[in-house]
Amino acid sequence: MPSKTNAHNANGHRRRQLVDRIKATATHCALCDLPLNPDAVTPALDSTEIDEDLPRVRGGNPLDPRNTVPMHRRCNRWKSTMTLAEARQLLALGATVHEPLNRAQRRAMLQPSVGAWETGASRWTGTQGGTPSPPG
Ligand SMILES: [Zn+2]
Repeated sequence: MPSKTNAHNANGHRRRQLVDRIKATATHCALCDLPLNPDAVTPALDSTEIDEDLPRVRGGNPLDPRNTVPMHRRCNRWKSTMTLAEARQLLALGATVHEPLNRAQRRAMLQPSVGAWETGASRWTGTQGGTPSPPG
């Protein structure tokens, strides 16, 4: 066997170590807060997966312990490319992890709660971070 290493394999190893470490101590799902089932095995929907708070496709680091959380497979799939905060916001608004939402549905649910431009004014009424640009 050639002893060839590349970045992908090295990261795979680091990721596995991180996943093992989190799984060893995790007791509850980071999204739904229900207990994890250590006996459930992939692809069972209640098996434990390690998810990124800020998803990889949005620049999240899968090797950063601060960006990785334990989650049910079901919850992880439902969360998809949302951050934990966005996903929790949808749950607070009445969504459930048992009903997948498409992008438009997510946006429609999140829109009213992130603030709005007052009609006829140039004042942002939202309370969340970010610097929105005026409409039009
Ligand atoms: Zn869960």
